[in-house]
Formats: sequence, C-alpha cells, structure tokens
Amino acid sequence: MTHQELTYFKDLILKKRVEMLKDLGHIEQQSMNTTTSESSGGSSYSDHMPDLGSDAMEREKAFMFASRDGAYVTHLDKALERIVEGTFGICRACGGEISKERLEAVPNATMCVVCKSEEDRKKRKV
Ligand SMILES: [Zn+2]
Repeated sequence: MTHQELTYFKDLILKKRVEMLKDLGHIEQQSMNTTTSESSGGSSYSDHMPDLGSDAMEREKAFMFASRDGAYVTHLDKALERIVEGTFGICRACGGEISKERLEAVPNATMCVVCKSEEDRKKRKV
C-alpha cells in the first residue's frame, strides 16, 4: 500500500472515529494533524493530539470499553496502530492484501474477504 493510500485510510478511520465519539456523546477536540511522531519511551502530556497509545488515549479507551460502540472505536484505534506499524491492509490469516473496497467499507478489517468468509463458515459449523 502506498503512502497516499495509508494517509487516505488514516483520515477515513479518524473521521469514523470522530463520528463514533460524537454518537457516544464524548467528543474531544481532535486535531487532524496527520503526523505521527515516534514517542521515545516515557509518557508525555502534550497539548497536541495524543500520540497513538498515549496515556490520554488509554484513558479514553477505558472510558469507552463499556459500550459496543466503544468497542468499535477501539477496533478503529487498532487499525490506526496497524497503519503506524505498517501492517494495515494485510490479511492476518494469509498475509495477502485486503482489497481497498473492503477496507473502505470496513477499515478495521484484519482479514481479506476469502479468509473472513472461511472463518465465518467455520464458526457456523461449530
Ligand atoms: Zn486472507
């Protein structure tokens, strides 16, 4: 996946996340600053958008874990983490690429359509 595509999906996920937080009645001022600075260990309480995995975001997560929508937000957070890690859009089952169409519909998808339907089929059998 190209850098542009990653940026595109990152924006997409951030927007979905903001919408979701609005639905939850819990919206924090969200800067659309797309730079991801690598935190050099230690926790930093900056006034800027919290880095992924920062203390602020951890607190936010803890707050939202209770609800189903909150769980979805954490899925989006995980997708953002995968963008940072460089594993976004890669199927965790077969290692293949997840189609862009699928990622647009389900940006937090971790499996390609083939593996996902395979898994669903297995689940149904059990
Ligand atoms: Zn797959």
